[in-house]
Amino acid sequence: MEYRAFALKYRPKKFDEVIGQEHVVSTLKNAILTNRVHHAYLFSGPRGVGKTSMARILAKSLNCFKGPTITPCENCVSCREITKGVSLDVIEIDGASNRGIDEVRALRENVKLSPTYARYKIYIIDEVHMLTQEAFNALLKTLEEPPSHVKFIFATTHPQKMLPTILSRCQKFQFTLIPLEKIKEKLKRIVENEKINIEEHILYAIARCSGGSIRDGESLLDQLVPVIMEKSLGEDIFSFLGIIDEPSLNKIIELIVKKDIKSILNYIHTLSEEGKDLEVFLTSLIEHLRDLLLAKVSIDTFKEISNISPHTRDFLLQKAPLISDSQILKMIEGLIEAKDLSKKLNSVRIPLELTFIKFFSSSPKEGENTTTAPIFDKLSSNELPHKNSELPAEDPPQMSETTEETCKKSLEEEIIEDIEKSMDCSFQQEEEVKEEEHFDTGQRLEEVKSKWKNIISRISKKRVSLGSYLSQATPYSFEEGVLKIAFPKEFSFHKEIVENIKNIKFIRENISQIIGADLRIKFILLSEDREEKGDKKKKEEEVEANSDAEFMNELLDTFEGKLHHGE
Ligand SMILES: [Zn+2]
Repeated sequence: MEYRAFALKYRPKKFDEVIGQEHVVSTLKNAILTNRVHHAYLFSGPRGVGKTSMARILAKSLNCFKGPTITPCENCVSCREITKGVSLDVIEIDGASNRGIDEVRALRENVKLSPTYARYKIYIIDEVHMLTQEAFNALLKTLEEPPSHVKFIFATTHPQKMLPTILSRCQKFQFTLIPLEKIKEKLKRIVENEKINIEEHILYAIARCSGGSIRDGESLLDQLVPVIMEKSLGEDIFSFLGIIDEPSLNKIIELIVKKDIKSILNYIHTLSEEGKDLEVFLTSLIEHLRDLLLAKVSIDTFKEISNISPHTRDFLLQKAPLISDSQILKMIEGLIEAKDLSKKLNSVRIPLELTFIKFFSSSPKEGENTTTAPIFDKLSSNELPHKNSELPAEDPPQMSETTEETCKKSLEEEIIEDIEKSMDCSFQQEEEVKEEEHFDTGQRLEEVKSKWKNIISRISKKRVSLGSYLSQATPYSFEEGVLKIAFPKEFSFHKEIVENIKNIKFIRENISQIIGADLRIKFILLSEDREEKGDKKKKEEEVEANSDAEFMNELLDTFEGKLHHGE
């Protein structure tokens, strides 16, 4: 069966299928019903929120043989051709790739001709802000005196980059990010329709990761379905998404409210043992506390703008009265400092633990002055972690003679020392490798092979699922600065996952850090029998095909996943 990406398969075809842009839909419907359709529209807003889909629906409504209508028939030649993206009277132009004056001149010539069979000639120009100045000027001339059979629909993510003279000639619609709940509902409809069983909290997580773009949500779902089908991965979906699930964050909030420092430290330990990305945890926790603060400060705002599931919303509303604003603020500030410090130290765990220890030790008898201070400023002896132990000791040594300044220094030094010890490869070693510029390619491959276990373990520490996928692969060749990493043929699914653009970047960075040189990487699939000489050609073809796939990935990423005219 032919595979179609969800974003294409479930692209809205009618006004009523568009989600999250109700204000635009109702104004456009009204214009069609009252026969007051403007000759030029500008749809602006973030990527992946339905601008081009809306443009196509509007075009279909205007050109349907039974129209103009707000419910295009989907059956007439015009409707069908617009859906397929092949209508001669609806011309889609990508401003990013046809940005010159020649294209616009051709358009101006073309505009004079009547539609072939439909009511209007409709030009949909996507990313219109990318047109050159000359092209804009040429376009302006057409816009000043548009023939009555012509309509323009411009779409852009950057309306501020457009000429004011063009803007003033368009009816403008601002598209907005789509609320979490609506994205989740659409994803739910998709999985129900595809008969895939995915729990609601996972759909929420995907919706949260999509950041208000339905196209991103659908693409994430596309990537995740195979992962989810492989039942054994369970919780790892969240590492795949690079987020921490809401129940985990709620648990920490619960412990903060209870002031249970021991369980918090144990919990951080568990997360770390499970290979959860503590940096992601830290960021997610800051966001979660911000939501908790909102729940305290303004319930209405909280309900409106927080990007969380209804269950978590209720949970936070329930916990909000149990902690003061200033305590939440203090916690957030401490975590932000921990985040900064973690970059300096290249470790998240220790700053994270220290933040909690400091928070609870300096803490919060009710009514006490709760002004915040930078993490190390008022560090007293009873907040120091036990030397040589990542977990703080219950009974720390006395250091009452030490001045604040030296205390601060020695603690930072101690932390850095500990972290260096625990790293796969020290900073010094990395520097040394970088010095060797002309590295023999065979030698380089051997080097990667010899450090492959280190690489896997380093990646596993940060992203456990990614590490386990990658452990099925082996370094295959190194040529012209490109390291090819091969999966056995039966692991094509693993290869697809690691090839996700974010994953490639992450893997490349980690390999480069261990090897000490920036290596480009490519994943390939091996033929069934790599010894068989006759298969060599086939194997090479596969390598080629994979380069194309990677190229497409990069391309799609650059152009924000915009594939015109379909599949
Ligand atoms: Zn029709």
